[in-house]
Amino acid sequence: DFTKSKTISQQRQNLPIFSVRDELLQVVRENQVVVIIGETGSGKTTQLTQYLYEYGYTVNGIIGCTQPRRVAAMSVAKRVSEEMESELGDKVGYAIRFEDATGPSTVIKYMTDGVLLRETLKDPDLEKYSMILMDEAHERSLDTDVLFGILKKVVARRRDFKLIVTSATLNGEKFSNFFGGVPIFNIPGRTFRVQICHSKTPCEDYVEAAVKQAMTIHIAGAPGDILIFLTGQDEIEATCYALSERMEQLISSTEQPVPKLLILPIYSQLPADLQAKIFHKAEDGARKCIVATNIAETSLTIDGIFYVIDTGYGKMKVYNPCMGMDALQVFPISRASADQRAGRAGRTGPGTCYRLYTENAYENEMLQSPVPEIQRTNLGNVVLLLKSLKIQNLLDFDFMDPPPQDNILNSMYQLWLLGALNDVGDLTDLGRKMVKFPLDPVLTIVSMLSVPSVFFRPKDREAESDAAREKFFVPESDHLTLLNVYQQWKANEYRGDWCNDHFLQVKGLYKAREIRFQLLDILKTLKIPLTYCGPDWDVVRKTICSTYFHNAAMLKGIGEYVNCRNRMPCNLHPTSALYGLGYTPDYVVYHEAILTTKEYMQCVTAVEPHWLAELGPMFFSV
Ligand code: ADP
Ligand code: MG
Repeated sequence: DFTKSKTISQQRQNLPIFSVRDELLQVVRENQVVVIIGETGSGKTTQLTQYLYEYGYTVNGIIGCTQPRRVAAMSVAKRVSEEMESELGDKVGYAIRFEDATGPSTVIKYMTDGVLLRETLKDPDLEKYSMILMDEAHERSLDTDVLFGILKKVVARRRDFKLIVTSATLNGEKFSNFFGGVPIFNIPGRTFRVQICHSKTPCEDYVEAAVKQAMTIHIAGAPGDILIFLTGQDEIEATCYALSERMEQLISSTEQPVPKLLILPIYSQLPADLQAKIFHKAEDGARKCIVATNIAETSLTIDGIFYVIDTGYGKMKVYNPCMGMDALQVFPISRASADQRAGRAGRTGPGTCYRLYTENAYENEMLQSPVPEIQRTNLGNVVLLLKSLKIQNLLDFDFMDPPPQDNILNSMYQLWLLGALNDVGDLTDLGRKMVKFPLDPVLTIVSMLSVPSVFFRPKDREAESDAAREKFFVPESDHLTLLNVYQQWKANEYRGDWCNDHFLQVKGLYKAREIRFQLLDILKTLKIPLTYCGPDWDVVRKTICSTYFHNAAMLKGIGEYVNCRNRMPCNLHPTSALYGLGYTPDYVVYHEAILTTKEYMQCVTAVEPHWLAELGPMFFSV
């Protein structure tokens, strides 16, 4: 057991990056911008910041390290503060949206790229940082791509500022060229062969297929932990549940001793203490099975994985410009992602990757690499942000891969319709408020949607908990149902025992309340009055309608819909309050689409067709 028997400093010295520490520091000393390429697990995220700190780069400012994912920012900060024998939030801290765990003595700050982007609004030259590491640049998230353009300017203005771009894949040239041909440093890797097994036929239900494959490995395979890639929380929970059921069945049906299987989920909304469990070594004779989103593709490194099960799907972030929030949708992954996933099996020794899709799908249906987010999403937020950074002509902004001109113009048109831009394309007062307050004013609903489902469904009390849930239903809307839950909880003095009695997750509700208070604070600062719409919930429904105009769907059959824009089929989820209506409405809008056994709409509200028609050009554009 390497992690238990070796001290932290021995573990640090054993990482591939350690052997090139001095060369790395030299290349950073001699250049203002450097690109660093290294396999996942080589030590880029946890070690580089420490080397730079040890070398003295925090004398005139702190070191910032950006991550495209919140989980990574939190988990890595925790690990590094342990390595530095400091409390989290002291020397090493993190900042993610709605949460700042840094302090006056913080010298290494991990944060999401979105957090740094917002900091540039207040401090365009990022004066408090002596250097920024843009980690996981290969992910090409929207925020990362905008940051590239902004940081390039900071580099030109501040000679004392250094920038390091790191990537887990071999596209260093592109980053290097963007900064005018800066050096690319390769960390020599240490990886083992991974045998790839494709499905013979396309798979109908990848959750079931993944469970079966994991059980087969557990029963018959050589020792080594398993990593399963799925798309999101619901699927992960369903898989973990199915796995534990299969294990119980197996134990009760055989005389033989069954080795233990430690089933561990990991996704961004999972509470931090549960997230940390994936890094703990399983007890002797037990096997770990980690069930993850694409967070485990490159952002988090887990040692000891010998088997990877890849479903071939992942969620991609799509911006909802009106809410200023990410909406996640399920897509097939790219070949580059598939290769990264497979590579996770070869870190500790030769491994195996089971792909739950055909070789033909890999060769002919998957894209070579993911399309950068900036080229596939609505740019409303980016436009607002760049405008408030006083960038006049957005078509001239220095993008690494410029978004299609039409997308920029379209987003500007939408912002003009919303009253955020005036006739000459400058920000209005409302626009300036929207930059600072990008969330839907329907505060409570937004807060409730910002936390995992608050409905609790223990496995031996399904019927009882379903009945409790139905009592909250507002039949024309899941959004209003959430609002109803929150309002009733409030009417019962936010009591925990009341939640338990009604099968509601106390923790989730507390978090929602906290987020709601933070949003209220922002509104107060901006002097935006909170309009009270009283018992007329149609007003709220209309607001929801205009907020989700991009996720409008029309009826095709009982419970079956298609998205009005892209014609994607989407179905009413069995848990939806709309089943209480007694009929299925012709038009609905929904929060997000999730793919389980089929494409389901998550959180749905019935809307009137003339509301959509009133949205006019906004609804029919793009
Ligand atoms: P990279 O960024 O190059 O992918 P990291 O710096 O994230 O690599 O990880 C380097 C090593 O640090 C991993 O292989 C793992 O052994 C260890 N490590 C990283 N995070 C944790 C953690 N939270 N708990 C335990 N070990 C960790
Ligand atoms: Mg990393």
